[in-house]
Amino acid sequence: MSTVQQPTSSLVYSDFTANTLATLPHSAGLEQQSPAPDHALRISGILQTTLNVEQTLDLFGREIRRMVSHDSITYRNPLQNIELTQGKPGRHSGAYQLIVAGQALGEIIFTRKKKFTGQETTLIEQLLCGLVYPLRNALLYKQAVEAALKDPLTGVHNRTAMDAILQREVDLAHRHGAPLSLIAVDIDYFKSVNDTYGHSIGDGVLKTVAEATAASIRGTDMLFRYGGEEFVVLLSNTGQEGSLCLAERIRRKVQMAHYICNEAMISSTISLGVACLSPGENAATLFIRADQALYQAKAAGRNCVKLAE
Ligand code: GH3
Ligand code: MG
Ligand code: MG
Repeated sequence: MSTVQQPTSSLVYSDFTANTLATLPHSAGLEQQSPAPDHALRISGILQTTLNVEQTLDLFGREIRRMVSHDSITYRNPLQNIELTQGKPGRHSGAYQLIVAGQALGEIIFTRKKKFTGQETTLIEQLLCGLVYPLRNALLYKQAVEAALKDPLTGVHNRTAMDAILQREVDLAHRHGAPLSLIAVDIDYFKSVNDTYGHSIGDGVLKTVAEATAASIRGTDMLFRYGGEEFVVLLSNTGQEGSLCLAERIRRKVQMAHYICNEAMISSTISLGVACLSPGENAATLFIRADQALYQAKAAGRNCVKLAE
């Protein structure tokens, strides 16, 4: 178990530029004695070469290790679901909340076997000045990329993401000789849901279907909304038996799910088409075959799963 050696510090920069270290706690005394401000500036310059959060922290860890020895650095940002650790945590730790202009960027924790001295913690605080703005840029970039690939209504990946990921997964499956399956999903009689209850309740039903589908799949499976009431599930390393079994599980789960509104419980069903990647097949034909199987499921009366030829 780690011991918290120093009380958690908050580094709050309200109007920070890289050389205004006087706004930091404990920094004034050290500014004359140590080259920390120069180091912070240099670190900031190095970190500005990337917009990747992991790389930003890797580079920061590499730079700070030269000045303050430590066993591990952990960065945690629950708002963006990030937790990264470099090294093996030691017994003593110092934790810093990173806040820029009122915006929380998460927490960074340094650990090592030996206690950190007061001078070292002050130096760490100063060097963190070089991290905060590049880190904020990387976090904003991550958010923007994720937003561009997400469907705002259901929160699942959108069609743009699907096009990129499907191509990548097909290439990988061929390279490794691994199975890959695609399930095309379409809500049954969804137009009548809108016609009966209105579009916004239709939106709620769509979300419920997406949630029920997401809850049925494994961590390695990927769910996309590629059209109005149409979804795709992509299953890497999964052949015919596994994908048919999962498709049936999704079908049942959606049938059991309800969207509750004004004391009405609205349920819906889905039809599913399953296609498994054939040797040499491309992403487009895999998708077309799954869509054809979906069409057969509709023709067979809906609320069922069909396998593509
Ligand atoms: P089928 O069983 O043959 O699939 O019938 P369906 O009624 O589901 O199919 P159809 O293609 O006739 O209708 C799809 C409906 O989905 C029509 C469209 O208004 C609705 N829709 C598409 N996107 C959205 C959306 O984002 N929100 C809502 N509420 N409705 C949507
Ligand atoms: Mg449709
Ligand atoms: Mg439909």
